[in-house]
Amino acid sequence: MSAQIRMGSITIHRIVEQEGPFFKALEFFPELTEELLGENRAWLQPRFFDANDQLMLCIQSYLVQTPHHNILIDTCVGNHKERPTRPFWHLMKSDRYEKSLAATGLGVGDIDFVMCTHLHTDHVGWNTRLENGRWVPTFPKARYVFADRELAFWTKRQQDKPAACPWIADSVLPIVAANRADVVKSDWAFNDLVALIPTPGHSIDHFSVHVGKPGADAVVTGDMIHSPLQARYPELGMMADYDSAQAGRSRRELFGRFCDTSTLICTAHFPSPSTGRVVRWRDAFDFVAA
Ligand SMILES: [Zn+2]
Repeated sequence: MSAQIRMGSITIHRIVEQEGPFFKALEFFPELTEELLGENRAWLQPRFFDANDQLMLCIQSYLVQTPHHNILIDTCVGNHKERPTRPFWHLMKSDRYEKSLAATGLGVGDIDFVMCTHLHTDHVGWNTRLENGRWVPTFPKARYVFADRELAFWTKRQQDKPAACPWIADSVLPIVAANRADVVKSDWAFNDLVALIPTPGHSIDHFSVHVGKPGADAVVTGDMIHSPLQARYPELGMMADYDSAQAGRSRRELFGRFCDTSTLICTAHFPSPSTGRVVRWRDAFDFVAA
């Protein structure tokens, strides 16, 4: 199934790999209190939190078609990858992602660029696929765009403590070894339709991707936000943040720039349809599905 969004000369498709309840909210957001959860449960359930206060999350890529390029933003979890600390992602054998890509009318050979907003396990998985016991690039023609400090951080982490980040060895380093990586600054402007926006904090050099032209534009946010609760409370960090205070500043800056505008916000993990607009709410923001 492919959901598509048309926007000027651009078409955006969502490529869904998984959707459902994943993590307990009080663990996912370490600073979240029972009290704040209680104040917000009524609007969060059942769409964003299930009855057991687990986050309803979507795992997906965004495929942006411009007149010139097909750009895949983030690549989910992937198949056959050893993820012992995440049972729901361990050794996956699912055809959902490939079917969802095929439903767009495009195949792996049509992808020109893969952009990873950051190098966490659920954003790099389909970078590679298993072929005769080796990890090879899934998208045979694509250049893969990584932020320089993000790649440096995870390359060192993999050297120091390989068991802590197996996805770097099977989904990132094989791309570098195959000379397919384009290592860029996180504010890199690709062309007049596609530019990166630095949104650090969740990871050291996380970026979001701005696509389109004024009046017909979108921001693919990656993991600069995980739940609309963090629009209302931008300082609410999540468990895997590199620097939650910085992540909060990134949310305030990005939402401050795009709130009360027509810019479509395309989140990585909000439940379907995952997209919406940001409006002012008290001294922060609210996310309105669209
Ligand atoms: Zn993620």
